[in-house]
Amino acid sequence: MKIKYLTAGIIALCIISGYILYLRIKSIKNNNGKPFHVVCTTTILGDAIKAITLDSINIDILIRPGVDPHTYKPIEPDMLKIAKADLIIYHGLHLEARISDLFAHLKHSKQTLAATECIAKNKLICTNQECSMYDPHVWLHPLLWIEVVDNIAKKLGELIPHQKDTYIHNAQIFIRKIQQMYQSTLEKSKKILPEKRVLITSHDAFSYFAQAYNFETMSLQGINTATQTGFADITAVVNFIIKYKIPTIFIESSIPAKTMHAIQERVQNLGMKINIGDELYSDSLSISSGPAATYLDMIDYNLNTIINGLT
Ligand SMILES: [Zn+2]
Repeated sequence: MKIKYLTAGIIALCIISGYILYLRIKSIKNNNGKPFHVVCTTTILGDAIKAITLDSINIDILIRPGVDPHTYKPIEPDMLKIAKADLIIYHGLHLEARISDLFAHLKHSKQTLAATECIAKNKLICTNQECSMYDPHVWLHPLLWIEVVDNIAKKLGELIPHQKDTYIHNAQIFIRKIQQMYQSTLEKSKKILPEKRVLITSHDAFSYFAQAYNFETMSLQGINTATQTGFADITAVVNFIIKYKIPTIFIESSIPAKTMHAIQERVQNLGMKINIGDELYSDSLSISSGPAATYLDMIDYNLNTIINGLT
């Protein structure tokens, strides 16, 4: 008899918790009475929006883990999500090069947020002589990403006023976690000797990371991965590696690895051993079972990988 009551109790508890969860999940509605729907471009933005809103709204991330945002173009199902969105959040600074015009156009008919617009221009890294273009990879500097998280929370609070205080509060919790992670990773990075602090990667995503952790960087592709690497670029990198006896070069998660293998081969043909380090995550988080499934994990994982390669 007791078992019967116990089973009934457990079932009732499950139903009640399920109902509470149902009420909590996607509980924020738009003006049409449907769950408030945010569409964002990258997994890195998605991670910040989830940290701010928890489970209260619908979030669609357009660019899957491992897909390059510089060359991404929306397919039809993505366009449908964009059309239905209550708010579109993208990085800006021309990261999403092939859809930035679309987002700029949509600004007149939909709520959009170029999340990096809050960062003062003097904190950005110029990528041309006139300083009219900027490096978009600001999330790789934790202190800049904090500004972006704050900006996203403000926009969400503006559109969903009754959640404003909650979202600002959640953003502050996330920001504190980023600050703590930055302090601990900065401390860890001191293991690398000053003369070994050179980061050679396949595309130029790590300039802000280099600023944050005191590295020099050298890359094969420019900021935009759509550009081709030439023979002269490879020769320059090979000469640099040999001159400064760089022990490890790195591959990035959303960029093909073949050029880095070509460099390794040329360096080794010239009589110097060089390793290819584990993959770094630059323009996307990993899949949920991977080592960099959240922003906090991504920065920590990248730094550990670099320490392993350069010490
Ligand atoms: Zn990139």
